[in-house]
Amino acid sequence: MKPVALLTRILAPAIALALASAGLHADDPFAPLRDAMVREIADMSSVTRDETGRAEFAAPVMAAMARVPRHRFVPPDEESYAYENRPLPIGYGQTISQPYIVALMTDLAQVGPGDVVLEIGTGSGYQAAILAELAQAVYTMEIIEPLAVQAGERLGRLGYAKVQARLGDGYHGWPEHGPYDAILVTAAASHVPPPLIAQLKAGGRMVIPVGAPFMIQYLLLIEKAGDGSLSTRQVLPVRFVPLVGGG
Ligand code: SAH
Repeated sequence: MKPVALLTRILAPAIALALASAGLHADDPFAPLRDAMVREIADMSSVTRDETGRAEFAAPVMAAMARVPRHRFVPPDEESYAYENRPLPIGYGQTISQPYIVALMTDLAQVGPGDVVLEIGTGSGYQAAILAELAQAVYTMEIIEPLAVQAGERLGRLGYAKVQARLGDGYHGWPEHGPYDAILVTAAASHVPPPLIAQLKAGGRMVIPVGAPFMIQYLLLIEKAGDGSLSTRQVLPVRFVPLVGGG
């Protein structure tokens, strides 16, 4: 066999594979960046295993991170940074959380297909979209009106029909649809809001950053047992924008 023919034979499968994945990604030039972001999250989860107790996040969580187009949740001038593993500004002094933190919070909440989930702090709607990939229904609340409106429209445009977004002070929760299997709070509170504890189902999980603004905050995992008793684990030091309201 001539060297060229041999080379072609050796390379053909690799070329076919490259073409196939290019085809797969043809409609979404951001897909390779998103895959790289997912690998970075996997590396980071293994580094933080001692603190989080999770060396790897659940496969459905990682699959959701690989599916949701984060670049559609950031302002146009941030689009090229959308798959960097860091928070990004979304206007009004707020941020879309770091992808690793989104994955960690989702993993800790152990969201399953039958679950009804409440999120406080819609922001861009990105975390809500990740939750919608895993849950039966997602209710999300945002206190800044333009963000609430934009996120609701964006989620509708992207086909996230399982998400209902509304303007309001999430300190008081959204009792009409509770109790919830999981509650995620994506802004730092000085204390765990009692209304949210009340709206957590027995057997449910709440993930919430707690601490004073601009001081060390800790991500807490709060579990409500079948008898209603609570257990709390301090997972990781984090930095979130403050939860406002509560009055
Ligand atoms: N989960 C968001 C990131 C949220 S940043 C995302 O995926 O993009 C935190 C958000 O919480 C901000 O948009 C802020 O306006 C909102 N927030 C702060 N206090 C709130 C409150 N009491 N009720 C509802 N939303 C609140």
